[in-house]
Amino acid sequence: MNEFELIQQYFANLGRQRNDVVVGVGDDAAVCSVADNHQLVVTTDLLVAGVHFPDETPAHAIGYKALAVNLSDLAAMAATPAWFTMTLGLPETDKSWLQEFSRGLKELADVSGITLIGGDTTRGPLTVGIQAYGFVANGSAVLRSGARVGDHIFVTGNLGDAALGLLGEIGKLELSADEQKYFSQCLRYPIPRSQEGLALNGVASAMIDVSDGLAADLGHILEASGVGASIQQSRLPISAHYKKLVGQVGTDAVLSGGDDYELCFTVPSARIDNLQKLAADWDCGVTEIGRIESAAGLRVIDEQGGLVDMVRPGYQHFSDQ
Ligand code: ADP
Ligand code: MG
Repeated sequence: MNEFELIQQYFANLGRQRNDVVVGVGDDAAVCSVADNHQLVVTTDLLVAGVHFPDETPAHAIGYKALAVNLSDLAAMAATPAWFTMTLGLPETDKSWLQEFSRGLKELADVSGITLIGGDTTRGPLTVGIQAYGFVANGSAVLRSGARVGDHIFVTGNLGDAALGLLGEIGKLELSADEQKYFSQCLRYPIPRSQEGLALNGVASAMIDVSDGLAADLGHILEASGVGASIQQSRLPISAHYKKLVGQVGTDAVLSGGDDYELCFTVPSARIDNLQKLAADWDCGVTEIGRIESAAGLRVIDEQGGLVDMVRPGYQHFSDQ
C-alpha cells in the first residue's frame, strides 16, 4: 500500500460532511469558508509513542485521544469545532493498526461534528499531531486572563482518575483488574467537554482545560489574570472508584496528575444562576471548588483550615526535576 492509497483508504471522508469545506483531503491544501463575524480558533497537540501514551496503547485509543485532546482545547476557548488536519509518523503500514486508529478517530469526529481536511504522512517513529480549527463569534472566545477577584471557581467531572490509570499501566500502582479497567478507560478515552465549553460562552470569565493537573492549570488562569485563589481540598471532585483508594494514594493525583481533560473555569457571582441552569443538563456534573482572591498564588485548604503542601507541580516536559 503506498502513501496515497493509505490516505484514501483510511483518512479520506473522515468525520461529518460539512458545507464549509470547499476542498478537503486530496489537493495541495484544503480550502474552507469562515462565516462572517466569526473568528478562527486554532490549536495543535502532538502525541509521541512512549511519551504521551505507553507503547502498548491500542490503536483505537490513540486515534480517539489524539483528537480528544485537541477538542478539549477548543472547548476551553468556548469554540465550536469545525475542521482538523493530521500529521502522522508511522513506523510501518500495518493495516489492522490503521483500521483501528482511523476507527477511533472517526468515532469521536462523528459525534463532534469535526471533519478531517488534510495532513501529511511519513515513515518514522509513531507520532500523531493534530491541528484542530474551530470558530467563535467575534470577540467571544473565553481566555485564561478574564478571572476577577470574587469569581467562583468550578471544575467539570472528576479529577485524578486518568493519573491513577497511568500509574497502574506503568506498574507504579497495584490495581485490581476491574480497577485498572476503569482507570485505563479514563486515561485512554477522555471525554472532551465540547458542549459544556460552548455553553459557557458568555458565562465563564476565564477557562482552561485540565491537561497537566488542576494546580498547574488553574495556576495558568491565576497568572494570566493577575490574581490568586483558595480552593477547598474536601470539595475536589473524585470518582467513587478513586474514593475507595484515597486512603492509599492520597490526593496528589487529583491536584497534580494529568490527562483529566476536564474544564476549570471561573464565574462572576452575578452569573452563578445562569451557570446553575446550564449545568442542570450536564451529565459530567460540575463542582464549585473555591474563589478567586487578590493575593497571588494558589492555596489549597484542608478540612482543618490549614494549607496543603503540594508535592509536585504538573507535568512539564523540559523541567529538570
Ligand atoms: P503534498 O506532497 O502536496 O504535501 P501529500 O502527498 O502530502 O501532498 O498529501 C496528499 C493529500 O493527502 C493532501 O491533500 C493531504 O492534505 C492529504 N493527507 C496526507 N496525509 C494525510 C493524513 N494523515 N490525514 C489526512 N490527510 C492527509
Ligand atoms: Mg505533504
